[in-house]
Amino acid sequence: MRLPLVFYGDPRLRKKSQPVTKITDELLKLADDMLDTMDINHGVGLAAPQIGQTIRFFILRNHIVTPEGHIQLTDPQAYINPKITILSSEEMQTDIEGCLSIPGIHEEVERPLKIRVEAMGLNGEIFVEEIEGYKARVVMHENDHINGVLFIDRISADKRKKLEPILREIKKKYHAAD
Ligand code: ZN
Repeated sequence: MRLPLVFYGDPRLRKKSQPVTKITDELLKLADDMLDTMDINHGVGLAAPQIGQTIRFFILRNHIVTPEGHIQLTDPQAYINPKITILSSEEMQTDIEGCLSIPGIHEEVERPLKIRVEAMGLNGEIFVEEIEGYKARVVMHENDHINGVLFIDRISADKRKKLEPILREIKKKYHAAD
């Protein structure tokens, strides 16, 4: 079931989310609904605060490039209570990011290239991954969400200033009553 998205300007996007204490049927249902919501909106990652739940949980799909050069999305993956370690503070990567909660804005963001992430899956088991490049970027973007951080916080002050009118429009469009 598709859930309504929460957009820039909503205070829930700025909250530090709470750890998940138990994998309940509600959480599994939420994960299912978040996946529908992410796919319908053509997102590659979705964090719980983006559908209004301030819990430390996100999902993503990685993408792979086939030998023919086509981009294919992988099976979804869930991260509960993730802990991220940056593996090398010298190696950085820069790429374009967007966010389902900030429609219409795409900007270059610099992030570490390689990270280690420890999280719990929906089966209740802890897993550890060492990842780099695009997948690491998606994990860091979604992990930012559960800390109340948005990708526009990670761009230069100059660029951010130029975005202010668009951000104001987004606020107006989705929070008309505010
Ligand atoms: Zn986002």
